[in-house]
Amino acid sequence: MDMREPLESGDVRGDAGGDESSVLVAVRVRPLNSTERSQGDQGVLYCPGQGTILVNNGAQDRAFTFDAVFEAGCSQHEVFEQCGVKRLIDLATDGFSCTVFGFGQTGSGKTYTITGPQSLFSDGLRERSFYGLMQRSFVYLLDRVQAKEGDFVLSASYLEIYNEQVRDLLNPGLTDSLTVRWTKNTGFYVENLSNVEFESLDSVMALLEGGIGSRQTSSHSQNQQSSRSHSIFTVYIESEAAHPDGRGGYLERHGKLCMVDLAGSERVKETGSSGELMEEAGNINRSLLTLGNCISALVDPRKREGHIPYRDSKLTKLLADSLGGSGVTLMIACISPATVNLQETMNTLRYASRAKRIKNRPVAKRD
Ligand code: ADP
Repeated sequence: MDMREPLESGDVRGDAGGDESSVLVAVRVRPLNSTERSQGDQGVLYCPGQGTILVNNGAQDRAFTFDAVFEAGCSQHEVFEQCGVKRLIDLATDGFSCTVFGFGQTGSGKTYTITGPQSLFSDGLRERSFYGLMQRSFVYLLDRVQAKEGDFVLSASYLEIYNEQVRDLLNPGLTDSLTVRWTKNTGFYVENLSNVEFESLDSVMALLEGGIGSRQTSSHSQNQQSSRSHSIFTVYIESEAAHPDGRGGYLERHGKLCMVDLAGSERVKETGSSGELMEEAGNINRSLLTLGNCISALVDPRKREGHIPYRDSKLTKLLADSLGGSGVTLMIACISPATVNLQETMNTLRYASRAKRIKNRPVAKRD
């Protein structure tokens, strides 16, 4: 089993464009860190190609297959180019609701993948090669919008769900939890959430950076810097274009792209949490458990049209549109190759496999 040889590029199987399934699942393996290497850990994962990942659990290999698998040597550029997010952005500019979310245990590379390494922000490092999916998506989106005909209005919101409380990361002075409401026309939405218009890369980067600065973190025995909250950065893309049937009139489109960085999915017992942190971990796991229950219900043909328990957590309320509605969703499961993380890696891969079985069909929202 050789973890050192990176794939030439992300190993991508399938094409979201021609596939009725609008849930894409990609897996990214982070490199072994220096501690793991110094302990002689060889890693338990092997990526033979064809979107397959093999997990060696000591006795035998267990195989999983996804739309894309990114080996530990893959760059941020390769992940962006080949994970399918460009297609989601194209759809969002055409009026679809699209969602990307990163999940996995703490320390598996979710933040690195979605927003780039911590040092990109804390040390003032502005090295573009480290940009995560978010920054690369902004660049691509702004290029797309400039190249397209019609008037576009772009705006963004950024929220955090921490302990089942919703905070506005673009208005951190507002300490009260915001309320999640539902109407027949809009579905679930967050009342009074800031929505800030932007026109340039600099201005949307400033929103992201400001929001990251106000994200709630608390010390945690597994990872001091680990964020214990879920965050959702949403770009709203409103456009008006001449009606394609050529008979005159305008077509309004309301697309959106949500980028979700989920809190660590590890089990509470492994973190040594207690007291307030235990309650926090319980709430994090409740959201993730509910997300898992929603996914299970969505892949069960008997329940598909019936009850999906979105209302059981704030996270699932806000992701309802992406999971079961008209949206196209890309899930990026981040995993550690280390032997010590084998159990959590298996949990993440099982979770991701279940998600792969969700089928929904995108329909652009138009007025
Ligand atoms: P999470 O958000 O899942 O808790 P992080 O993104 O903070 O995890 O990653 C944990 C550590 O591993 C960080 O030091 C990060 O820089 C490093 N890391 C994660 N993924 C990669 C990668 N693909 N390449 C290099 N370093 C990585």
